[in-house]
Amino acid sequence: MSDLVRYKCLIGGEWAEAASGEYFESFNPYTGKPWSLVPRCGEADAARAVEAARAAFLGPWRSMKPTARGALMRRLADLVAAEAERLAAIEVRDNGKLYAEMASQVRYVPQWYNYFGGLADKIEGAVLPTDKAEVFNFTRSEPLGVVVAVTPWNSPLLLTAFKVAPALAAGNTIVLKPSEYTSASTLEFAALFEKAGFPPGVVNVVTGFGAEVGDALIKHPKVAKVTFTGGERSGRHVYQTAAGGFKSVSLELGGKSPNIVFADARIDNAVRGAIAGIFAASGQTCIAGSRLLVQDRIHNEFMDKLLAFAKTAKLGDPMRSDTQVGPVATLPQHQKILDYIEVAKGEGARCVLGGGRGSGPDCGEGWFVQPTIFDDVSNKMRIAQEEVFGPVLSVIRFRDEEEAIEIANDVLYGLASGVWTEDMRCALRMSERLEAGTVWVNMYRAVSFMSPFGGYKHSGLGRENGQDAVRAFLQTKSVWINMAETVPNPFVMG
Ligand code: NAD
Repeated sequence: MSDLVRYKCLIGGEWAEAASGEYFESFNPYTGKPWSLVPRCGEADAARAVEAARAAFLGPWRSMKPTARGALMRRLADLVAAEAERLAAIEVRDNGKLYAEMASQVRYVPQWYNYFGGLADKIEGAVLPTDKAEVFNFTRSEPLGVVVAVTPWNSPLLLTAFKVAPALAAGNTIVLKPSEYTSASTLEFAALFEKAGFPPGVVNVVTGFGAEVGDALIKHPKVAKVTFTGGERSGRHVYQTAAGGFKSVSLELGGKSPNIVFADARIDNAVRGAIAGIFAASGQTCIAGSRLLVQDRIHNEFMDKLLAFAKTAKLGDPMRSDTQVGPVATLPQHQKILDYIEVAKGEGARCVLGGGRGSGPDCGEGWFVQPTIFDDVSNKMRIAQEEVFGPVLSVIRFRDEEEAIEIANDVLYGLASGVWTEDMRCALRMSERLEAGTVWVNMYRAVSFMSPFGGYKHSGLGRENGQDAVRAFLQTKSVWINMAETVPNPFVMG
């Protein structure tokens, strides 16, 4: 008998095995060993979950007043707050990120359910003027129906909140599909919906692989919208599949974000911003500042300080408070990062820090990569163009503002960017010209439930967070009412 924790998925308020009865193992990246078993759902489970969500949408959820819906969401927020540390520890066991980071993320998650819960009863239509005599015209903002939310492994509950909170506020029901690498925290979180008093079927969770249960969900004819966060390749596939059923789609994809340091910047602050941008979460964030653009004039001084600081990074057990860099989340990801390091060396980039597998007494059997910095990178190199999703920084020099913009925008992605300067005119010009959904000036890596987040170009479609995020889960209906006593003869025009 295995001593692994055995999870079930949640369909229509019932905890269930996959129809096939199959499970797969989930691994702890710090020990390299499996710790839990997760149901391997497929097409039949996807169909059951969508039917349950559709029944809840047409039944108890639709008849619930928006104020009551909002109150349930706020109750959920309180339950998440009370369980934040337990949920965060589960996330660390699955994705290996630092407990300190995951705990602060999960403690932040309730804000999404409070904020969007507060919006649930503020979704308004409009009365419109018309050019028709004796006609009254108004709009209703209505939910779409069943929403499928697909999430990646790096920040499971935070990225779930980006999707679930506005979708519920708008009156939709949901089928969640977490990453196959990090299903546990989403399943534990799902149990809180029942505790909060949500009707069964409003939120369902099916687990398994993208090509199996994920694909089946997206193809299901009763799904109205797909909201996806993940890699560019999967995102393209999801977009194309959803197009077959004319489903509404939002995509949050990858990035190759420029973090740009001008010569007049406060160097010590910019060094901190550069380090936070790439080594936090071992570089496994979509907004990683993986291209560091440094103005020629300060390049040498900046690099000395950057290297001195980066060398102090302590690798180790992600649960320990003195660890600064944890393992990477998956074995394939570990190999992919090491492969990219070899690609960069082969392309002629100069490795000035790290450049290999992380090891040492505190690393155990974990999947570690050394914090790695390449200098003298050209923006044409693959290491500057492709998302590595690991602790690998490419340093690129620039002469002036014009060249900084040219380099910064010369990638397929456009998720985020950072600008370090004391010249606010320069900062404003840069923020106008950077092709990115987020520009941070003299800071890096901030997100909030209050502020729109999303990508330009291949980094995605649509925006999450902020009040408008609710609109992405609504459709508008125009209602026309004839107030005249008689309907005109249709054979007489004019
Ligand atoms: P991934 O694309 O491999 O997987 C993401 C999710 O999509 C998983 O749940 C996976 O099972 C599912 N999936 C994969 N193929 C599918 C298919 N054919 N049909 C349906 N679902 C499918 O990404 P990942 O490796 O888990 O996460 C890392 C990627 O996510 C990086 O590229 C990162 O930049 C991106 N990301 C983006 C954001 C953002 O907000 N823009 C945030 C975090 C991560």
